[in-house]
Amino acid sequence: MKITKQNNLQDWWNKRDTPLLIAGPCSAENEKQVLDTAHQIAKSGQATIFRAGVWKPRTRPGTFEGIGVPALPWLQKVKKETGMLVSTEVASAYHIEQALKHNVDVLWVGARTTVNPFLVQELAEALRGVDIPVFVKNPIHAEVALWDGAIERFAKVGVKNIGAIHRGFFSPNSAPFRNTPSWELAVEMKRLHPEMPIINDPSHIAGRSDFIESLCQTSLDLNFDGFIIETHNNPKIALSDASQQVTPEHLENIMNNLQLKPESKTDQEYLIGLNELRKNLNSIDTEFLSVLLKRVNAVNEIENFKSDNNVSAFEMKRLGEILKTRISNGEKLGLTKELVEEVYKALFKNSFQIQVEKH
Ligand code: PEP
Ligand code: MN
Repeated sequence: MKITKQNNLQDWWNKRDTPLLIAGPCSAENEKQVLDTAHQIAKSGQATIFRAGVWKPRTRPGTFEGIGVPALPWLQKVKKETGMLVSTEVASAYHIEQALKHNVDVLWVGARTTVNPFLVQELAEALRGVDIPVFVKNPIHAEVALWDGAIERFAKVGVKNIGAIHRGFFSPNSAPFRNTPSWELAVEMKRLHPEMPIINDPSHIAGRSDFIESLCQTSLDLNFDGFIIETHNNPKIALSDASQQVTPEHLENIMNNLQLKPESKTDQEYLIGLNELRKNLNSIDTEFLSVLLKRVNAVNEIENFKSDNNVSAFEMKRLGEILKTRISNGEKLGLTKELVEEVYKALFKNSFQIQVEKH
């Protein structure tokens, strides 16, 4: 698909009719790396915004923590020489002050900052009355409210252009990814803020460059508004996140391979076919709800029977048994363990609530 550099970011923000591409290295390492990478990215005419981390939130001290303020003039050069807008991550009022002083066009808040309401508030105060677009990455742990709360803090001080970045969530079982995508949480964010752009960061979800294309396609299929992709002129020797960075050439291929699928189609054959399939789903759901009601009633009967006999409501052994047999029966039918487990956990939660209300 054709992804092109936007000449007016505000226009794109209002319309969001084509995906926005932000690309650049994880970290600004030296002037040559920044400028070479930027020129190579600019050649394809796809990226609107160049990204580079100037202050890097690293897990351990002693690793490369960014060049800091001396890297900001390199971004100014990128803007002058390539015409791309430039962006960097800010995590303190001082970072904001310096970024604004050096004419950075777009700011982003990192996943490790979004988790901390004190820091987010400090950033918001530093942006009071400043007209600059801010992208807020999801917090490292899977909580939409905290992500939304950070967005609210920026909105409250008057930041007009706020976007969200979905970069996946920390989890001990994220394999094969570095972070678990949990797409449903990003979709929930879209539902809460239909007017707000939300872009995907496949680099930090994947942790490896060969997954970037398929993650981009998934996000496009879910109607994300664009991508922020770590791109380095020589990923092998990158000082941070080496395994997930793509080369500018790889980036161009990824963008060209993406397919924009329409959300719907207007031809009769498609509409009739879809209508039939939806009728079928609707009648299954009617049946499903009446079975669900039968189950809730059966649980209530058991609970009343126990209470008439002066027996406590829950037996942990029985809950464990239900979960185990239902998962195994479900698997025999071809249902995944995850789905059956989620459904039964929701049912148990409801039974607990009924119990608590009764007492
Ligand atoms: C980054 O974009 O370089 C970064 C540090 O990302 P995150 O905050 O998502 O970990
Ligand atoms: Mn990174």
